[in-house]
Amino acid sequence: MSLPRRTPLQRGASPARRTPLTTRAPLARTATPQRRAQLAASGPVQQSAASRARARAVFAKRAAVLRAMVDEDPWCRARIDGVCTGLGEDGHEPLLRSRGGDPADPNNIVLLCRACHDHAHANPLVAETLGLMRHSWDAA
Ligand SMILES: [Zn+2]
Repeated sequence: MSLPRRTPLQRGASPARRTPLTTRAPLARTATPQRRAQLAASGPVQQSAASRARARAVFAKRAAVLRAMVDEDPWCRARIDGVCTGLGEDGHEPLLRSRGGDPADPNNIVLLCRACHDHAHANPLVAETLGLMRHSWDAA
């Protein structure tokens, strides 16, 4: 939806610059030549082994939680009319990871079919009324 413009945009000349752009000092380099050489020699930035290990542990726990959910009841928990395809395929986090949700917390994982999962993310207001989307301020 767009509102009609009351006054159409008029193309005209750019406003006149009253003060010219000037530079008084060249931009300062933030790294010394030695540091730049060191960074160039070290190659691309790598994720640390500790960080990779933490991520692997979180996702191993998440996979175990999802396996247990599927073993208990393999069907989609949302069952959105006209959308649902039946079997649960995805683990959905009502409190999104971007909102601080824990991807391995069993209380923050809902088993959904891919269609319901896509629908929930495409329609956050619908998802909120179905309890599939929570705000960060609802987390505590
Ligand atoms: Zn579904």
